[in-house]
Amino acid sequence: MLAALQSKVEVFAATARGAAPVCPQCGRPMRCQDTREVSWLARCGCLHAAVSRYRCPPCRYACRPLLDLLGVEPGRISGAPARLLALLATVAPYPLAARLAGLLLGVSISPMGIWRVAQRLGEAAAHRTDALSRYHADSRSIGAPTQTAPAAVVLGVDGACSCAVVKFWISGTRMRYDEYLRMGYGIGSGAVESAHKQVVHARFRQAGMRWSEAGARRLLALRLLLLNQDWALLDRLRMVSLA
Ligand SMILES: [Zn+2]
Repeated sequence: MLAALQSKVEVFAATARGAAPVCPQCGRPMRCQDTREVSWLARCGCLHAAVSRYRCPPCRYACRPLLDLLGVEPGRISGAPARLLALLATVAPYPLAARLAGLLLGVSISPMGIWRVAQRLGEAAAHRTDALSRYHADSRSIGAPTQTAPAAVVLGVDGACSCAVVKFWISGTRMRYDEYLRMGYGIGSGAVESAHKQVVHARFRQAGMRWSEAGARRLLALRLLLLNQDWALLDRLRMVSLA
């Protein structure tokens, strides 16, 4: 597995060596500054590659395209190990997640380390959720074709406490309860309240927990990916650097 992965890395490295990147600020080709051996920890062991650093002297911009391409950040947890640690953080409090990381993955990491990884991936997931909401809220967006779609209730949740106010719409029109009952739709909020318990309470409302708005938003975005069976999407999202 490790050997197969290493040979894949070498194919990427050979491709990247051929092309000098263009400076994103001025558009001029960048100069190769140096090439150094970089190694990093993947899920199945240590990988390495000769990585070139490019610079644009006038703009003082530098980059290592091969590492960007591979999603590797030297000195930081990235790639598949980062996704696994974030996965633990979505289901368990940070101190417990750190202990599970030791038992399941053989990784020694502090609760703070787990928190940092979850925040960086959670920010990426939250960006995606926000972009998706903006897209669907924009009337100019092309929606999915509706001719063949099954009859469905579009559901919106307003507020995020246990007394969430739940509002329903069908095709953008306001709730008409009697009509929906006739059509056989459920109009109760029980399903939503139960989802709320599973999505939010089970992870966020445990003894002694306090949350910052940003911290909760990021972890919630990760938890939604997990519960919606979209976790694999995370492989395509770039980890966000947090100041
Ligand atoms: Zn430049």
